[in-house]
Amino acid sequence: MKRFYYDKDAQVGFLKRKTVGVIGYGNQGRAQALNLRDSGLEVIIGVRADDTKRQAKSDGFDVFSIREAAEKAQVVLLLIPDEVMPEVFQKQVLPGLSKGKAVCFASGYNVAFKLIKPPKGVDVVMAAPRMIGAGVRQRYMEKKGFPSFIGVHQDATGNALKTVLAIAKGIGSTKSGAMLLSFEQEAELDLFTEQAFGPAFGQVLLSAIQTLIDAGYPVEAVMVELILSGEFAYSMQKIVEMGFFPQMELHSHTSQYGSMTRSVRYMNPQIAQGMRDVLEEIRSGAFAREWEAEQEAGLPVFQQIKEMRNQHPIAEWERKTRRAFRIY
Ligand code: NDP
Repeated sequence: MKRFYYDKDAQVGFLKRKTVGVIGYGNQGRAQALNLRDSGLEVIIGVRADDTKRQAKSDGFDVFSIREAAEKAQVVLLLIPDEVMPEVFQKQVLPGLSKGKAVCFASGYNVAFKLIKPPKGVDVVMAAPRMIGAGVRQRYMEKKGFPSFIGVHQDATGNALKTVLAIAKGIGSTKSGAMLLSFEQEAELDLFTEQAFGPAFGQVLLSAIQTLIDAGYPVEAVMVELILSGEFAYSMQKIVEMGFFPQMELHSHTSQYGSMTRSVRYMNPQIAQGMRDVLEEIRSGAFAREWEAEQEAGLPVFQQIKEMRNQHPIAEWERKTRRAFRIY
């Protein structure tokens, strides 16, 4: 099987005579449903809350309960939060999943960590955008693509790949490229970004802010210098567009010399070791088990961390800086 798939490799028409049921109408649900319909597919929505039903109806969709939508659709897209998915799947989706249907996930998590065990006889596929829902819709409207990871976990009909490619093209991803990965690879990469790269970067930022504030620099100057001016975000965007090293040419020679000569001081083998440990916890399933136990216990640690987060002075520093520089 190939690794990368583009528009020319996928046929939305493969799903022409089928009904696509989008379960959930939030970040991804709304964006994917609108894109699939604009790509010519018949899309129905399955949701629980009345407000969400009203919104989907006002967007022109036929809206059902989750159970009814899973019964009516031949291709079921599960676009609800990962942590509620196993129960909703078991009670409301599974009864409608008769032989020959397809179920599509936007994240490999629940299948990879065996929190959902789909029945035999159905295709189990994944179309996981590397893009937030608002971007999925916006880039579709702009006729631009966005990368996604696609996967086939179970090919009961022999057509699972064609189905997921039709979805990937229908939501607008194959304009950029859809890459074939296993559900496990997708879930592990996603969790690693959340648990290694994200927090390590966050700690670096907080250390830099604290160092400067402790050294007596005004809070507003520190916050605008490091993050709130948007200069850093702009440089990140330039990394995407130009590349990590080429974008350095956009910075002054003083900046380039200083950052290149000092970067070795932050080469800390403990960081890489911490990241390898995190990856091992993810791959062994230890994290998924821990998170499941935390939810069953009523989220005590989660609540504690949120409270600690609320006590950190950074929110006040940000408020002051936004007011001073009129950054809204
Ligand atoms: P959202 O949090 O936006 O999902 C909201 C929807 O889920 C609403 O329609 C809500 O229904 C419904 N929902 C929430 N709880 C329940 C429940 N207990 N029972 C029934 N329905 C419920 O999800 P996302 O769009 O963020 O994520 C969906 C999937 O996409 C996940 O697998 C996620 O990993 C994946 N993904 C998300 C990305 C993102 O940008 N957020 C990026 C790539 C993949 P109601 O309104 O009725 O309460």
